[in-house]
This record gives sequence, C-alpha cells and structure tokens, in this order.
Amino acid sequence: MLTNLQVDNRFVDHLPGDPEERNYVRQVRSACYSIVEPTRTSDPQLVAYSSEMASTLGFTKADCESDDFVQVFSGNKKLQGTSPYAMCYGGHQFGNWAGQLGDGRAITLGEAIGVDSANYSLQLKGAGLTPYSRSADGLAVLRSSLREFVCSEAMHHLGVPTTRALSLVLTGDTVIRDMLYDGNPAPERGAVVCRVAPTFVRFGNFEIFAAQRDFDVMRQLIDHTIKHDFPGISNIGSPSAYIQWFEEVVDRTAYLMSEWTRVGFVHGVMNTDNMSITGLTIDYGPYGWLESYDPNWTPNTTDASTKRYRFGQQPAVAHWNLLQLANAIVSVVGEAKPLEDALNNFAQSYSSYYTKALAAKLGLQRLIEQDSDLLRGLEEALLSTEIDMTLFFRHLGGIDVEATANGLAKLEQLGDVFYRPEQLYGKTATTINSWLKTYALRVRAEAGDPGRRKESMNRANPLYVPRNYLAQVAIDHADEGDFSFLHDWMEVLKNPYEEQEGKERFAGKRPEWARTHVGCSMLSCSS
Ligand code: AMP
Ligand code: MG
Repeated sequence: MLTNLQVDNRFVDHLPGDPEERNYVRQVRSACYSIVEPTRTSDPQLVAYSSEMASTLGFTKADCESDDFVQVFSGNKKLQGTSPYAMCYGGHQFGNWAGQLGDGRAITLGEAIGVDSANYSLQLKGAGLTPYSRSADGLAVLRSSLREFVCSEAMHHLGVPTTRALSLVLTGDTVIRDMLYDGNPAPERGAVVCRVAPTFVRFGNFEIFAAQRDFDVMRQLIDHTIKHDFPGISNIGSPSAYIQWFEEVVDRTAYLMSEWTRVGFVHGVMNTDNMSITGLTIDYGPYGWLESYDPNWTPNTTDASTKRYRFGQQPAVAHWNLLQLANAIVSVVGEAKPLEDALNNFAQSYSSYYTKALAAKLGLQRLIEQDSDLLRGLEEALLSTEIDMTLFFRHLGGIDVEATANGLAKLEQLGDVFYRPEQLYGKTATTINSWLKTYALRVRAEAGDPGRRKESMNRANPLYVPRNYLAQVAIDHADEGDFSFLHDWMEVLKNPYEEQEGKERFAGKRPEWARTHVGCSMLSCSS
C-alpha cells in the first residue's frame, strides 16, 4: 500500500508529547503535540491531486488513483509506520493573546522523505476532532478546502513560498456551516485536504511555551526547528545560533511579504498562529487576490471594520507578529538587544526585496533614487480608477515604448484592464497617460532590448493568478459533482507566467457579476 512513501516520525520521536491518549478537548501543558487518530469518513471520493507533489513524494499515477490513496488521505486508513498527531500552539488573534489554539482540525500523519531527499510533513485538514478543537467540529467544507488546495499549488508555481497540497477529497459527510455568520446555518459537503510542508510549526508553537513559562520545552522545539529547517545554522543550543535563527526568520518573513505584494495576495487572517516559522504562506482561509489595485482591500468580512489585515498593511503586521515571537523566545535567547536589532532590520529587508521585485515588474534593471517620482506616479495612476493589478503589470510589458515616450501611444494599449472604462477621461486619463510617458522615457533611457524586456517582465508578472471569482466558479461546479473546471484551471495555474492558447477565460479581469458576489469578493472565516 503506497509503498514508495518513506515515512519517518521525527516530530513525535524527538519532542515531548502529551501523555493523555484519549481524544477530548482540554488544555495541554509542556507538550508539542497530542497523538490523535483521524475520524473515519463515510464515503471518501478523490476530487483532485497534485501530480507534482505526488511525484515528489514518490507516488505514481496508479498510487494516486488507487483506493488506498483516497482511504489514507481522507483519514480512514492508517499510513503504515506513522503516529498521527495534532500540534499544540497558541497565538495572537487580531492583536490579542488568545491562549491555547492548536491543530483543532488538522492532523499530521507523519513526516516523509521525498525523492529529492527533502523532508515533508503530511497533514490532513478537516480530519475530525482533536484535543484542540475547542467548541468547533474539527471538519472542513468543500468550498474552503478547494480554495486551499488550488491556492497552495498556484502559489508554488508562482514561486511564492508556501505549504503545498497533495490531495482534495470529499468525505461523503455533511458539515453544518453558517457561511456568513448571519444566523443561517446550512448543510455543506465535507472535505479533507492533505497539505504538505517541511514543517507546519508556527510562531504560536513557541508563544504557547512562553505563556506556560516552560522554557525547557521551548528550547527543545527551537533546537529541533533549527536542526531540520535552518540548515545553515550550526552550534545548535548556543545563544549565537538562536540569534542567527531569529534573524533568518525575520529575513524569510520579510521576503514572503515582498512576494505577497508582488503578486497581489492578501492572506486575510495574519494571526501569529497563521505565521509559518519557515516563512511559508500557511493556512489559506478567507484570502483573496487583488483585482483593482487597492492597498486598503481585505477579502475577510470578519476583518471589515478595522481592516487590520488589508493588503498594504501586511508587512507592518508581519513585523508586529515577529515582535510577539521575539517576546516569546527572549528568555531562551538570553538577551533582548540582538532580537531588537533583527526586528529593526525588517523594514530594510522588506524594502530591498520589494525594490528588486518592483524593478523586475517594471522591466528595469534596478530602481535608483531618482525613480521615486516614477514610483509615486505609478501609485497615483493605479489609484486614479479601478485597474486590475495583475493585468496592468502584465500588459505594461507589451507597450510600444518608442510611441509612448513620444506621446503617440496612450492608455488604450493596455487593453482590458480597467473596471470603469467610462472614467477614462479628464484628470484620470491624464494621470495614467502622463505616467505611461514618464515610464516609457525611463525604459528608453535604459536602452535595453525590447524583446528581452518583455520576456523578463513576463517572468515577474503572472498572467494567471487564482482569481477570487474563478475559485467560486470552480466551487459551484464541484458542488454539482463536476470537477472538470477545477482540473483545467489547475493545469493552467502550473505555468502562470506563460501565455497559454485557448485559456483566456482564466486570465481575464473579474466580470461585473462577481463584484459583490459572496465567495468572490467577500469571505468569512467560516470554513
Ligand atoms: P484559523 O483562524 O482558521 O487559522 O483557526 C484558528 C484556530 O481555530 C486554530 O486553532 C484552528 O485549528 C481552529 N479551528 C478553526 N476551524 C475549526 C474547526 N472547524 N474545528 C476545530 N477547530 C477549528
Ligand atoms: Mg490557523
């Protein structure tokens, strides 16, 4: 049965666990995990799997299409040699310490060694109650599971650090959800995603031990994390290793934020329990993709009043989250100053990553000090009317630089990127046209090869991102038992930077019907 998978239980084998073996909701102390079995599902059905992830794990197509596969990755059949567990963690939610959270519906089957010799944790999300389920049911529904499955694989192909997804399975069971939290609970189809990552450890895994004042277990978890996930760090157990580790966490997080900004991704719930210690995008919930460029946009209706987790705020929130992590680990590190210094480097680190990314998006070799006007003008142009961020940058690579620099070609050459074309006159048109001209002059001054510029811009500006409304279309089809839209879309998302013939329907801007449609522009945490 799935014999090509090489399993290894390093988390359970090397870290302290909860001695209680019964599965009931409780507070757990001084333990990194509790052993727990997934709940059986009644009639699991495979909806989709990622063939790339599967082959990395050594699975063949026949493996993935076998009955064993759907049984194992819905939680019905035990993967040989594993001790499934739920992790204990805490977290700051929306700015406040929330106490113990933990894997309330995620169960890690174990760690596996891929054909690339890398280590992968396999985790079922939506696999039933655990000691950390608090008052919830431990389950997940099709719509949120499909969104997580698609987006994690899409992010991977976009080159953004992320947890991966191996499979999406319908459980055959019904789950009750009040989707909009408006007093209308309804039955939905249950689903389980198998997520894959080198580790699912979050900032909150360390914070919980600070709250418990258990610095011994915290130190063991830090050492374990450094050993397995930060291979460049030696002298494990020494203060210098801890400092270097935190510096690297800051740096990886800064890079992740710059990548989210580059592609227009809004996480939606950047609580510290949703921050991966290795700088991966983790826990896809009410996330969204920018359609019209808007730093104030958040897809999460639960966050609509304060917009704490809006697009333009993500780097600042990441910094705040890192501060909570620093507060948690300072007793183990032994001194605060190096942690403060590392935190103070965050802004610089983010800015240098993002400046590089933006230069690539604009097809410039580098951004220089004199470009500050160009960048201010860009922001002004993007905000002057509703402009699709993804398509704007993509089409910018195709403009006629010579004609634009001479004022002969204007915004029309950008094509169908405007959500309010009727606004393209007067001041709005002037703002965009004059920026395009400034930009074209700047590009001309760099005197690069136009063909190569377009090619390199295309590598920085994806044409296909998992647009919010396309996810909803995929969900609507899947709800009817038709997975073909999902499969076609996943194929396209494998090559997001390459124009694919006949796949226009996955690239276009959001249609008007989706502007205010639930699931397309408004999402709650209900999942
Ligand atoms: P999230 O905001 O989705 O990252 O979840 C925050 C916490 O709530 C985590 O500890 C989750 O495991 C837990 N949680 C979310 N949904 C459920 C559910 N349906 N059943 C049990 N726990 C859940
Ligand atoms: Mg979470």
